Amino acid sequence: MKEFINNILEKESFSKKEIVQLLSLDKYLSKDLLHKKAYQIKNEYIGNKVYFRGLIEFSNICSKNCLYCGIRVGNTKLKKYEMSVQEVLEAVDFAWKSEYGSIVIQSGEISTPAFIDKIDFILKEVATRTNGEIGVTLSCGEQTKDTYRRWFQSGARRYLLRIESSNKDLYYKIHPKDEHHCFEDRIAALKDLKDLGYQVGSGIMVGLPFQTMENIADDIIFLKNLDVDMIGLGPYIEHSDTPLYEQKNYLTPKIERFNLALNTIAILRILMKDINLAAATALQAIDPEGREKALLAGANIIMPNLTPTKYRDDYLLYEDKPCTGEDAKQCKGCLEGRIKKYGETIGYGEWGDSKHFANKHK
Ligand code: SF4
Repeated sequence: MKEFINNILEKESFSKKEIVQLLSLDKYLSKDLLHKKAYQIKNEYIGNKVYFRGLIEFSNICSKNCLYCGIRVGNTKLKKYEMSVQEVLEAVDFAWKSEYGSIVIQSGEISTPAFIDKIDFILKEVATRTNGEIGVTLSCGEQTKDTYRRWFQSGARRYLLRIESSNKDLYYKIHPKDEHHCFEDRIAALKDLKDLGYQVGSGIMVGLPFQTMENIADDIIFLKNLDVDMIGLGPYIEHSDTPLYEQKNYLTPKIERFNLALNTIAILRILMKDINLAAATALQAIDPEGREKALLAGANIIMPNLTPTKYRDDYLLYEDKPCTGEDAKQCKGCLEGRIKKYGETIGYGEWGDSKHFANKHK
């Protein structure tokens, strides 16, 4: 088995069949070979540095109804919130003074003029008060190309828009099939972002009901062909207030979804050597050291949460989300210790841009 895995890992690219074989590794030794190879590539191409992205969960108000998501518009149990500009800027100040280098502003998907203006105002304020020293990633869903352009002009440089599944049939098993959840529109939005000069991120969930290993292999090929600069992926974790929860009996055990997510990260690192790859918080919901294990499988980005604790319980995209009671300071201290324990250093004061993006535009 060892020789078989090593033979695949020595190749420059993998066939779909080989990706499926690598995804399926579950025995300690064979999985270890895959993760070690990914970690070695990460160190060779981007060094043993982890970059922080201070995460600001700006608003849980969303106009969409994705069947897996805890903050979907149809979840009437949810207490809606939107952070004030003042609260966002306080979080930005914390990130700046802590030398995080970058922040992510994430929210549900809203396209009202008031929402677009508010994000735009925040972007300009962030650039002014930090002298442009903080890199900004937005993750606010599908918007028009004009809105993306406006936000870029106001200082956003990266945009994360997860496809969740690149298989159209599966996409419509986890999203309502209507004009608000159009597969083609999502792909078009990713292309708009690329056209405008953003560093573009996308990602998937692994371990979804109805999802096969072949689907995930296709997702990996899709992300590679789309030539994204950043990837955020995590295991699917069910939320009891969502329609997809009805399919919970078809799920594999959480630990299997966790292992599958780590294998997916490792394969993506091997195939897309210089991209930024996030160690998603969802991993930690399954294994207390999940994010650190992702670093050892090739991830290089961690998102310490800066959202005021009073809002955290209302931004539960999935259940068992960890650290919802920890404030920004506690979160920083905890993460620092964990990362150093694993022999990685933290890129304080650096934007930590995607090297893949820089290499493409040399
Ligand atoms: S996944 Fe995003 S777009 Fe879908 S309901 Fe949740 S926040 Fe809204």
